[in-house]
Amino acid sequence: MTLATVVVEFFVVLAFALAAVLLNTIDARGFLASATVGFAVMYGGGISWFVIVAVFFSLGVVFTLYKYGYKRRLGSAQGKGGARNWPHILANGGLASIAAIWNLATPGTVPAAFFLGAVSTSAADTVATELGLLSHSKPMLITHPSREVTPGTSGGVTALGFVGSVFASLVIGIMALALGVLRDPYQILPVCVIGGVFGAAFDSLVGATVQRKGYCVVCLKPTEALKHCGERTRATQGKRYIENNIVNVLSTVAGAIAAYATLLALALV
Ligand SMILES: [Zn+2]
Repeated sequence: MTLATVVVEFFVVLAFALAAVLLNTIDARGFLASATVGFAVMYGGGISWFVIVAVFFSLGVVFTLYKYGYKRRLGSAQGKGGARNWPHILANGGLASIAAIWNLATPGTVPAAFFLGAVSTSAADTVATELGLLSHSKPMLITHPSREVTPGTSGGVTALGFVGSVFASLVIGIMALALGVLRDPYQILPVCVIGGVFGAAFDSLVGATVQRKGYCVVCLKPTEALKHCGERTRATQGKRYIENNIVNVLSTVAGAIAAYATLLALALV
């Protein structure tokens, strides 16, 4: 890799991150986080890995803004017009960046499977959440399928959300196939779909059990956010330190391990 290539990559990443801020898909403080993730992925995995992260990001934007007004009336839309903040970007892009750096040290199918599992999980979880909010049937708790919960509750799952998680990880898989991220084309789709769907299901499972839930001390609405109406929220359920971004980190790890296990299983057959 020549210095000129690295400089070009650096400016391509900066241009993408700047465009993301200008389009209000990430907030201004998310610029540094997304540029860091983008550069780590581009440097360690090359342009094809970067394109896959960009595809995940675009899927997230499209599904977040789809029927945004309806989701806002429901009280479940992402805040700030859907702009994601830096903890969210690092939670979703952290493991993908680590896999890319790992790939730089020892390139091969193992870091690639971890990378694909992590990105598929983030894509599957984001699309499942955003599509699930539009479901006509009420979400049910993944741990107690007979119990209905209000849309937007962590741990709540819908058939539409499940379809969304399969769709999103399939899109990541098809892109990875087209770009040749794994050498064996028969491995890519199962690695992405099983990794992504497992990771998203793991997210719901943690969301239903140990994730921090609480309420806003100002408007008294139930919320899973750490802050609401500018004040720290009060926790009522779950572990105090397991908030949404921690859950996202844990699920990308779970999805990456599932993707790697799928790769190993396919090598046996
Ligand atoms: Zn509030």
